[in-house]
Amino acid sequence: MVETMTRQSRNGSDNRDAARDLFAERGLRVTQPRVALAELLFGNGPRHVSAESLHEELVRSGAPGSLSSVYRTLNDLSCAGLLRRMPICGSTAWFDTQVEPHHHFYAEDEDRVIDVPGNGVHVGNLPPPPDGYEFVGIDVLLRVRRRGPPPDA
Ligand SMILES: [Zn+2]
Repeated sequence: MVETMTRQSRNGSDNRDAARDLFAERGLRVTQPRVALAELLFGNGPRHVSAESLHEELVRSGAPGSLSSVYRTLNDLSCAGLLRRMPICGSTAWFDTQVEPHHHFYAEDEDRVIDVPGNGVHVGNLPPPPDGYEFVGIDVLLRVRRRGPPPDA
């Protein structure tokens, strides 16, 4: 595990440390489930998770922790800017460990989120925001599904 962690990107390592600091700052005990969550979230490069999928990983890893504590931790981390809560995709609340602006594909059949590589989306001709509002960001969600086999396969 230690060897795996030392091979992580600097960003992931910084975020994991920041998550531990955040637990302490907020008066949250640095519990084994919270540390396990931070390692699952930030230990393997950029990723998209739902509370449910992360809870399943937590249970599989042998660490204790309820689904509600996973939800709380994800919300705390997104309030602190360490995670980005994504616009609704399907009925699942998704969290992104990559907080820099970027766009996504959403595979509807698989309920799966995939980053659009590079700057692959150019948005233009935006309407003005509603009266009294200003833009704070643009999130493009490109909905996709797997193609079936070719007709002659
Ligand atoms: Zn993303």
